[in-house]
Amino acid sequence: MSELHIHNSLSRQKEIFKPINLGHIGMYVCGPTVYSDVHLGNIRTFISFDVIYRYLIHLGYKVRYVRNITDVGHLVGDLDTGEDKIAERAKLEDLEPMEVVQKYTNGFHQMMDIFNVLPPSIEPRATGHIIEQIEMVQKILDNNLAYVKNGSVYFDTIKFHKKYESYGKLSGRIIDKLFSETRDLKNQKEKRNPADFAIWMKADDRHLMKWNSPWSVGFPGWHLECSAMSTKYLGEHFDIHGGGNDLKFPHHENEVAQNIGACGCAPAKYWLHSNMLLMNGRKMSKSDGNTITPHQLFTGESEHITKGYSPMVIRFFLMQAHYRSTIDISDEALSAAEKGYKKLIEANRYLQQIHHEGSSVENELDIQIKESISSVFDELNDDFNTPKALARLFELVPIINSYKNGKREFQDFTATTMAELKQCFRDVLMNIMGLLDETSSQGNNLYSSLDGVMQLVLELRQKARYNKDWTTSDKIRDALAKENILVKDGKEGTSWSLN
Ligand code: AMP
Ligand code: ZN
Repeated sequence: MSELHIHNSLSRQKEIFKPINLGHIGMYVCGPTVYSDVHLGNIRTFISFDVIYRYLIHLGYKVRYVRNITDVGHLVGDLDTGEDKIAERAKLEDLEPMEVVQKYTNGFHQMMDIFNVLPPSIEPRATGHIIEQIEMVQKILDNNLAYVKNGSVYFDTIKFHKKYESYGKLSGRIIDKLFSETRDLKNQKEKRNPADFAIWMKADDRHLMKWNSPWSVGFPGWHLECSAMSTKYLGEHFDIHGGGNDLKFPHHENEVAQNIGACGCAPAKYWLHSNMLLMNGRKMSKSDGNTITPHQLFTGESEHITKGYSPMVIRFFLMQAHYRSTIDISDEALSAAEKGYKKLIEANRYLQQIHHEGSSVENELDIQIKESISSVFDELNDDFNTPKALARLFELVPIINSYKNGKREFQDFTATTMAELKQCFRDVLMNIMGLLDETSSQGNNLYSSLDGVMQLVLELRQKARYNKDWTTSDKIRDALAKENILVKDGKEGTSWSLN
């Protein structure tokens, strides 16, 4: 079998993967900013890295996977000025900032469960690592690569670039252009040059989330948490750093600068960037309303789709694109994915229950099946190419189905080849791609069954309300709330969602 090659954003090439410490891998992926429900775009990124994590485990590595929760410092507009996204939401929803964080962290975890995404080994929060972040700012200051201005601390990108000649290397930004760009920002005057960025920000009186520091009562810059937490849990130099490619600049570029600025060495050996989920040809994004919620996808309550799709069909749909390619969500594509998912899962279900005596000698079919199995893993070794690996699996389906249809004898190949075939399907579909067999004989999925039950419950509650039987209607609502099911009464009727 071939060796694992991964595309490193740093070199812009595929490289043979060699871990820093034999048998071990440290991997850090930027997690969500928990100020709103995750959309399918966010979910795509976490599923992409889930498959990478699962494949590395499959290859026998002991992986420490760190995926953070951003709960402070990420400002509206991703800039160095403006309101914190969490605090803004807290005001809007009349909640404590930490209530916002808890609410959307719970929602995020629930979605990760629904899509069968494995939890990371460590899930650190930015607010739990303020001390580490302050220490990192101090180190950068001690190394003379940052300066204090009115209680805020800015990273000095010009000094850094003069010393290391590496600012812009990861994102491929032209340095001179960056350094000459001027933006009309409030605190731009405090910066020595426009490319500098805040690593500590002084908070004004209205600011909700702030901590004491040697420079001011304030809060850390958005990029700092990932530098501090990856160093704490994976060391100064670790194997893989990942995230969506929209984070390459400024977030990851600044992370690299901070790590080098603090300890003199680049954080990650390999940088992996996953591509964006599109809808109608545009990036799925909250800020311009181009989103579809998982709930809408499951129930079909959206103008963009004609029916609901199950979480595993959606996961399968995402597997059909390489993680570095964009993927455009549409009704036709989901509908095709539904067919493909069923075909493969049903073939697997049949395969796993075959009792196979087999022939005693290998023949041509043995060789053909073994070559196909090997090519499935060659594709995965080629920068985790899930669409091509799936295509190779599909090539094996007619062989499985020919037995199902009684067109072939089991004696056509050996029991060893059959065992390898079973193992390959189990490993690739279930363990690596993380697909569950959710198709029942009626082809229903769990979520739509739940929706069916919920429609009945809501109807009973509606009846109770009509009869002014408030005890029953409240009892139903409270019982659902206990199960984290939120009932919303609106002008167009009552709807439900997972809280
Ligand atoms: P955020 O919560 O905005 O910090 O984003 C969490 C993760 O989702 C980041 O890794 C982003 O790169 C990723 N992301 C945001 N929008 C999309 C999208 N449309 N497609 C894929 N990933 C996305
Ligand atoms: Zn990050």
